[in-house]
Amino acid sequence: MKIGVLALQGAFIEHIKILRQLGVETAEVRLPADLADLDGLIIPGGESTTIGKLAVMYNLMEPLRQFAAEKAVWGTCAGMIFMAKDIGVDQPLLGIMDIVVERNAFGRQVDSFEADLRIEGWPAEAKPFPAVFIRAPKLIETKETAQPIATLADGSLVAAQQGKWMVTSFHPELTLDDRFHRYFLDIVGR
Ligand code: GLN
Repeated sequence: MKIGVLALQGAFIEHIKILRQLGVETAEVRLPADLADLDGLIIPGGESTTIGKLAVMYNLMEPLRQFAAEKAVWGTCAGMIFMAKDIGVDQPLLGIMDIVVERNAFGRQVDSFEADLRIEGWPAEAKPFPAVFIRAPKLIETKETAQPIATLADGSLVAAQQGKWMVTSFHPELTLDDRFHRYFLDIVGR
């Protein structure tokens, strides 16, 4: 199994480190050719406007959409924004997932915070996942076959899945808990 991490900007090294610790072959994706032999792709957190501009500049938009049409893709934070069909403002988006997302939706006073999350579909006895939020986007709505898989105590949706696509508004690559990475590898292998 080989997993790529989009390496245009943002926290891609952290994802690669965790994947390597899990014994998975990895690749940094910067050009369309880098997608050729991958089984799955992670789009990291960072700045979604920058990631979008660079993806356009490197002619990655169509190749990424074609890749996603067949393979598993996981977007964390800015990656979630980039995968969404609707974010209410104009910036380059892959626009593949049937979710409505609002950028920087948790307000300045709580730019960053942590929360323990229960994840839908994980064993009931699993301990909560320690989620780290940094200027995080919020999932306003899931449509079509997209389903929420994690919710904050106040009801805010913060993770969703649609077939082989997953989005999390938080950063599992910044914690020592590798369960989200293992869960993604599980989706890739299905
Ligand atoms: N606020 C960033 C954006 O809008 C996302 C933040 C992050 O990825 N940690 O793209």
